[in-house]
Order: sequence, then structure tokens, then C-alpha cells
Amino acid sequence: MNKGQALIELKSKGFKHTDKREDILSLFENSTGYLSAKDIQLALKDTYPGLSFDTIYRNLSLFEKLDILETTELDGEKMYQFHCTEHHHHHLICLKCGKTKTIDICPMEDLSKLDPDFQVTGHKFEVYGYCKDCRNNNKVR
Ligand SMILES: [Zn+2]
Ligand SMILES: [Zn+2]
Ligand SMILES: [Zn+2]
Repeated sequence: MNKGQALIELKSKGFKHTDKREDILSLFENSTGYLSAKDIQLALKDTYPGLSFDTIYRNLSLFEKLDILETTELDGEKMYQFHCTEHHHHHLICLKCGKTKTIDICPMEDLSKLDPDFQVTGHKFEVYGYCKDCRNNNKVR
């Protein structure tokens, strides 16, 4: 998913195009990892001084519902990024900066052998840690 595809998706589902929505999508387009509602408010506060959390959350929820964004939870906070639609893969997620990296291995390939009677329809697998940049910037053991 990218900004262009997201805008097409919104339009095809009958949602209005607004500058605010487009600006939020631009942030995701330029991000290398997950963003929180707080990150978005911070980034847009000069453009939209009155932008409330409520508005941000409403848009993020809409994007999530339309499969434009996918979510995870870091430190009890919901984080968002563009939904990965390419081939099946998983992510390494940095707990400090939210940056994600794609890994091409999938543990389900082995797990599915454990119970052949159970029909698997989906799964979630995320690996948490600290990225190289955050480790080099010390303070992280
Ligand atoms: Zn991905
Ligand atoms: Zn990091
Ligand atoms: Zn998998």
C-alpha cells in the first residue's frame, strides 16, 4: 500500500478527499516504520494547529478498516504503518524508533505441522528489539 493506492481506495469507497487525510498519508509514505497518533499530531501541528487526537484517531481507524494501514502495539500504544500487500512476510520492529524491517522467514511453515486438523486462516508474528541506529545511539543495552 502507498499513498496513491490509498487515495484511490478512499475514493472508490466514497470517502471525501481532504488535505488532512492526504497529509496523514504522506507521513506514512515518508516513514520507514510505525507511527503513533502522537507522532502524527506532532508532525502536523504547524499545518493544522487545532488538529485533535479525536480527528487523527478517526482517520487512522478508517484507514485501518479499509486495510490501508496495519497496526501493532508497542509499549501499550497503538502504532500504524501502511499495510504490506506484497508477498507474505514478517517484521522486525524497533522498540525505540518504531522502524521496521522485513524478514522473509515465516515460523508458520513449521507450526502448521503441529496440528494438521486445525485449519489455519491467519497468523501474526512480530519480532521486537532495537535497530542498529538505536543501539549505536547508546543508552540501550
Ligand atoms: Zn511489511
Ligand atoms: Zn530504532
Ligand atoms: Zn508468516
